[in-house]
Amino acid sequence: MEHNDITKGKPLDFIRQIVADDLQSGKHIQPVTRFPPEPNGFLHIGHAKSICLNFGIAEEYKSRCHLRFDDTNPSKEEDLYVEAIKEDVAWLGYDWQDNLFFASDYFDDLYQYALQLIRAGKAYVCELSAEQIRLYRGTLKEPGRNSPYRNRGIDENLELFEKMKNGDFAEGSHVLRAKIDMASPNLNLRDPVIYRIMKVSHHRTGDTWCIYPMYDYTHSISDSIEKITHSLCTLEFEDHRPLYDWVLNTLQTQCHPRQIEFARLNLSYTVMSKRKLLKLVEEKFVDGWDDPRMLTITGLRRRGYTPASIRSFCHTIGVGKKESWIDMGVLENAIREDLNDTAPRVMGVLDPLKVIIDNYPEGQEEEVEAKNHPQKPEMGGRTLPFSRELFIERSDFLEDPPRKYFRLGPDREVRLRYGYYIKFASIEKDEETGEITAIHCTYDPLTKGGSSPDGRKVKGTIHWVSAHHCIDCRVRLYDRLFSVENPDADKETTFLDHLNPDSVVELENCKVEPGLNQQESGMRFQFERQGYFCLDHKDSRPGKPVFNRIVTLRDSWTKKQ
Ligand code: ATP
Ligand code: MG
Repeated sequence: MEHNDITKGKPLDFIRQIVADDLQSGKHIQPVTRFPPEPNGFLHIGHAKSICLNFGIAEEYKSRCHLRFDDTNPSKEEDLYVEAIKEDVAWLGYDWQDNLFFASDYFDDLYQYALQLIRAGKAYVCELSAEQIRLYRGTLKEPGRNSPYRNRGIDENLELFEKMKNGDFAEGSHVLRAKIDMASPNLNLRDPVIYRIMKVSHHRTGDTWCIYPMYDYTHSISDSIEKITHSLCTLEFEDHRPLYDWVLNTLQTQCHPRQIEFARLNLSYTVMSKRKLLKLVEEKFVDGWDDPRMLTITGLRRRGYTPASIRSFCHTIGVGKKESWIDMGVLENAIREDLNDTAPRVMGVLDPLKVIIDNYPEGQEEEVEAKNHPQKPEMGGRTLPFSRELFIERSDFLEDPPRKYFRLGPDREVRLRYGYYIKFASIEKDEETGEITAIHCTYDPLTKGGSSPDGRKVKGTIHWVSAHHCIDCRVRLYDRLFSVENPDADKETTFLDHLNPDSVVELENCKVEPGLNQQESGMRFQFERQGYFCLDHKDSRPGKPVFNRIVTLRDSWTKKQ
């Protein structure tokens, strides 16, 4: 089959190579993969790596990738998360078609398979407590000891398992264990628990069950039922592979998928464990799962990241077998590159300073032509109103500028982007505070559009908006949520000790050009000279938009270090 590879020009990663070899040898006609999230939290950028790998392979071969919820632990799982995960996968641009599954769909099969194991003498009901099971398990250096219940007869096991299922026993009093090898060098094979009693309602099966199957057991059988060909997971499951294979070999299932492990994504300046993300949300260090500083998919979406930028990031980092760290700058660069090509340029003034043009007639206004993208004429243009009173960025004027400051100051002339040349005239100050409240300038009527017929050059070009026409808005300048590369590195501190106090700065009194009021939420722009921004769909109100800064124009962190 033709390999329609998005990774054009790049050699296949080791997993795609295995897939290609298996098709070439005729082992499989097409690859079938799955993405198996547990619905106990929102997806994060690490999951995106797994999604892009699993759905990516399916897409390249025009085959299929299943979305399967691994919902075997009812105490932590909720429908809310199921819906959020579906939305996130779809937003990333992937389609599971009609292959939406739940491990809980297989509870009956899993139960029947457990009976089969018991009948084959390969599983037993154990009455050791969780603590005793741990003690009996041994260590990496010492073999474990057999449970006193290990050699029960098959009939007794069947009867006890039935009672477990019927709710006759208390939680924690009985478990079903696979009978493998208590002396195995691999701890996962020392008679692992495969069923436990939990008297908890399940989000899909309600109170039908009070015994629930364990992850490894469930996962291998679910993969097999769905005829998955390549079961891709992260490296920490490498030691679980022998158990995955034991279950399917012992049950002699028709389909035996191949488990392949790859290195998880570790990203600097963030934490990725769902437990920690949940803590940030629950203890209100952030403003919900979709806080634009969170590296969740929903947070990235609200921040203004595009699906294309996340896919491109996953493509850039690739898939390998060795644990490694990726710098946050790589992710930021992915969105910067995408938006550099696609985001219309607009003018936004974050910290406004009023400019009065003394020789521009009061009450007069006119329009100037502006381009939406300086390198892309096909993106068209717009007109901007120009009038006697404008706002410019406060930092674009200095009363006592150094020599290399090419913006406004006494005796200096600058170009207003797409407008006129203006020259400084005088300052207005608040008498009490000494703060500059406005500056006066004169303009040269012959420089419309930003060039002078006499060939006179100015060094600086600054952005501006017309005071009477612009829109008031709020702007949130987001930065990294943590101020150190690895918030988890240090034993003496926790990740919470490394929150970046400046991860969000909210500006109340910003001004943007008029057209931005009618934009759909989610639209992304470059505010010239300031960075990329998007309209916040949650907090914007009619007449008072809120813009989130997605990313700065340049990587400012490499300089900080
Ligand atoms: P956590 O351990 O933080 O609770 P998890 O990894 O157990 O999360 P799951 O819902 O089980 O979360 O993950 C679904 C899939 O996503 C798994 O196949 C897992 O291997 C993969 N995955 C999770 N985190 C990463 C990561 N950082 N990089 C790549 N894949 C990941
Ligand atoms: Mg997991």
